Amino acid sequence: MKLYEYEAKQIFEKFGLTIPKQIAVIETTEELEFSNLNFPIMIKAMVLIGGRGKAGGIKKADNSDEAKQIVSEMLDLTIHGYPIDKLLLEEAVDIASEIYLSVTTDPATFDVVIVTSASGGIDIEEIARTKPEEIWKNSILDNSKILPDLIAQEAVDFLIKKNPDLKAVDDQLKTTICSLFSVFQQVEAKVCEINPLILTKDNKIIAADAKLVLDDNSLYRQAPMLKSISIDPNSKRHDVSEQTQFEALAYKIGFPYLDLLNEPVNFVKEEDKLYVGLVPGGAGYGIFSIDEVVNVGKRYFDGNVIPINFMDSGGGPSLSKVADMFHILMDHPAADLIITSRFGGISSCDIFIQGLIMSLRDRFMKNKRMIPVFGRMVGTDLAAAKAFFERAKRETPEPLKDLHIIIGNQKIMADVIKDGIEYGFKVKKEIKQGGGN
Ligand code: GDP
Ligand code: MN
Repeated sequence: MKLYEYEAKQIFEKFGLTIPKQIAVIETTEELEFSNLNFPIMIKAMVLIGGRGKAGGIKKADNSDEAKQIVSEMLDLTIHGYPIDKLLLEEAVDIASEIYLSVTTDPATFDVVIVTSASGGIDIEEIARTKPEEIWKNSILDNSKILPDLIAQEAVDFLIKKNPDLKAVDDQLKTTICSLFSVFQQVEAKVCEINPLILTKDNKIIAADAKLVLDDNSLYRQAPMLKSISIDPNSKRHDVSEQTQFEALAYKIGFPYLDLLNEPVNFVKEEDKLYVGLVPGGAGYGIFSIDEVVNVGKRYFDGNVIPINFMDSGGGPSLSKVADMFHILMDHPAADLIITSRFGGISSCDIFIQGLIMSLRDRFMKNKRMIPVFGRMVGTDLAAAKAFFERAKRETPEPLKDLHIIIGNQKIMADVIKDGIEYGFKVKKEIKQGGGN
């Protein structure tokens, strides 16, 4: 669950961090009239997505005319396609310098990691790219609930070395870092971030922005904390801003689906790489097949093979759900190849092959994009599946000409994946030589 900035700040404040005084959260221009305003104020768009500043969602107002103008314009704005329903009005603080500070989990090692930089205010990825020496990072290996003093001191020393002005607030800085670490551990967060953490002209350290993402798995334990800032712990707050169009579609149809590429629609493919979509049998094999595609790609194809998704049909999917699972990847602009597998435990191979063939015939008739499918099928209803498959190939060879399903255990999946990738690269090369797209 992602929290809005004003909610995150309220939690940060409970843990001793200093935040700008919040005046109101409003949804209409009229509400502005009833707010007691002490100018200058900040007017901030409450959307669950970053980069609001650049998109015109963060403005300073020096008087009430300006405030009215900004509020009415901002409520009409969308940020990255998301409408702005709520605005936070808060005291504007005078900035002397901006710091970046976050506590999160390293996605590779799963250690808790603290990141800070004296060059705050801008995108941390941008700093990492252009000035990596400006970033201090430390992993806390034992998952302790309290930040060891030595580590906090090291972070403070780094910040002071980069910006000597911070010497005057060294104690405040240390307390802030320790407090943010406590927030992270106590509310069982995935991300706690302050960017910018501000040094004011009168030497105060204030969290001017706040990002807090909670772990959905621990929300039930965090009910009292959520209630304390007026969030119903049972309410669902989908991070719509984070869902890709395919994830949203799969959610609607009713199966778990994740895009591994951030932006599948505007994604720019690298020309020498093959992008592989996966329709696995079950979640466990789904996770494993992501690794296996990368593994085969590294061994035989110079690492030029990229898995693009995860999905799971759940036990006993219907014919139409199976068809939809294939449609999603055939519509996916990045996909060059689909690898599929059935270890038909509770799921019927017969329903599976019928659903798959239904999707291919449907697309062929409608002239929709089709990509090769490689896979293997064993388990429940195999004989019926085999009979259906053979007949279908005789009856409609054209739509099924790029469907390569091994029925039985003649090949291990790694070899099926390898054959598929080889074929995928061959097709890609032919398309390129043919000048098509
Ligand atoms: P984001 O763009 O979504 O990360 O939104 P932020 O809350 O970080 O605001 C963007 C920028 O607006 C910050 O980096 C600051 O430079 C500026 N800003 C935010 N709050 C204040 C404030 O209280 N006073 C002043 N002067 N600038 C602010
Ligand atoms: Mn920010």
